[in-house]
Amino acid sequence: MGSIGGHTTTATADRRRRVLFFPLPYQGHINPMFQLAGLLHLRGFSVTVFHTDFNAPDKSRHPAYDFVPVPVRGCLPKGSSDALQVTVERILAVNRACEAPFRERLASLLAREDVACLVADAHLLTLLDVARGLGVPTLVLRTGSAACLRMFAAFPALCDKGYQPAQESQLETPVTELPPYRVRDLPSTTSACHGVISEVISRLVTAVTTSSGLILNTMDALECGELASLRRDFGVPVFDIGPLHMLSPAASSSLLLQDRGCLEWLDAQAPASVLYVSFGSLASMSAAELVETAWGIANSGYTFLWVLRPGLVRGSQTSEAAPPLPDGFDAATRGRGMVVSWAPQEEVLAHPAVGAFWTHCGWNSTLESLCAGVPVIARPCFGDQMGNARYVDHVWRTGLTLDGVLERGEVEAAVAALMAPGEPGDGLRRRARELESSAADCMTKDGSSCTNVDKLVDHILTL
Ligand code: UDP
Repeated sequence: MGSIGGHTTTATADRRRRVLFFPLPYQGHINPMFQLAGLLHLRGFSVTVFHTDFNAPDKSRHPAYDFVPVPVRGCLPKGSSDALQVTVERILAVNRACEAPFRERLASLLAREDVACLVADAHLLTLLDVARGLGVPTLVLRTGSAACLRMFAAFPALCDKGYQPAQESQLETPVTELPPYRVRDLPSTTSACHGVISEVISRLVTAVTTSSGLILNTMDALECGELASLRRDFGVPVFDIGPLHMLSPAASSSLLLQDRGCLEWLDAQAPASVLYVSFGSLASMSAAELVETAWGIANSGYTFLWVLRPGLVRGSQTSEAAPPLPDGFDAATRGRGMVVSWAPQEEVLAHPAVGAFWTHCGWNSTLESLCAGVPVIARPCFGDQMGNARYVDHVWRTGLTLDGVLERGEVEAAVAALMAPGEPGDGLRRRARELESSAADCMTKDGSSCTNVDKLVDHILTL
């Protein structure tokens, strides 16, 4: 039994065995992978991060790690107006482009180092296969929820039953095999690229079932039933060790520069008085939706912090600069709002001034809001976001969904519903605080997530 960084673990402290990490090069995948690396580094492992030259991490923030770049530039499909389509096509392209250079770099590293295992993103099946081919044990990090993974495993059967691809008229139909999903909560409803989505999902499930273990950024208090079902059906050890952003000492792995000035601005605001608005790193909206969003926020009369990411508006001329706001917005909101191009989100959500979060329901944002006890307005865009929103709205009951055509009056009403005293805001806030407290329990020394980190460390040492 050893003690590393204050944590007691059955692993020995002096082994310095090396764990290799390979994140999918997107913000929502990079963050949890670096958080996991930070956690395992704290438990005594050396860390090597393989990464693509597209969306490459900033090495200077992680001086204790080794980095191995793998070239993919020029091999990735260009952006298109369908964010889901381009994302899934890029996932397949990253696998193809990395295969040969990763094999070469991994073989050369194996000649020098004692490697315990590779932890790769669940979307990197080809690279997991390469590692196994070279005799390296593999673990998979799935950066979405357990519920989403269970739905992915059921996806081919759901398609056989006719749930997908779906007609507009079927959207409200309950998926009776998988409550609380409705057809509209499944991944490819609104997309023309059903075939490629099915392929990406099936590869992800294979990546999990052929690995030596599955790591999930979730916790028992949130997804007890879903985790039990994965343990029963997947046949591999499952380690739910979330929330990684709170358990890990990792430095920020943000690809964009976070504007920390907004934290000082929040310091000057009253408790629970600010609406935080952010749609993550990939979701996009039309120029007309931006106008409705802006006037909905302005007309609500509430104080807000809004992340207006470069590239947020589809088809905008400059993807480098933040999209322009409508004329008159500045004057209408003077003194009660701040707009930034990227925020230190975890710190923002943990700030006492933040009273609600309008989110696209990416899994990291969902988890970060739940763990901070912040209720949400859920407006999912694609992929797993609809399912996450369904759980927020229907299972955890910590938020309201804003669906349909985005219209300023609806936005204003949703903001008021969450921010104003009384119901439904009070009930949502109460539930969010209860879940925050359950999440904190999972992180105590004997809580499920901490216990599972110990089990994961022991498991790695047996591989
Ligand atoms: N994030 C951030 N600053 C922002 C907005 C988002 O640091 O202004 C982080 C956020 O904390 C989360 C990640 O970016 O960890 C987004 O991941 P998520 O799964 O929520 O959405 P995605 O970007 O993958 O759609």
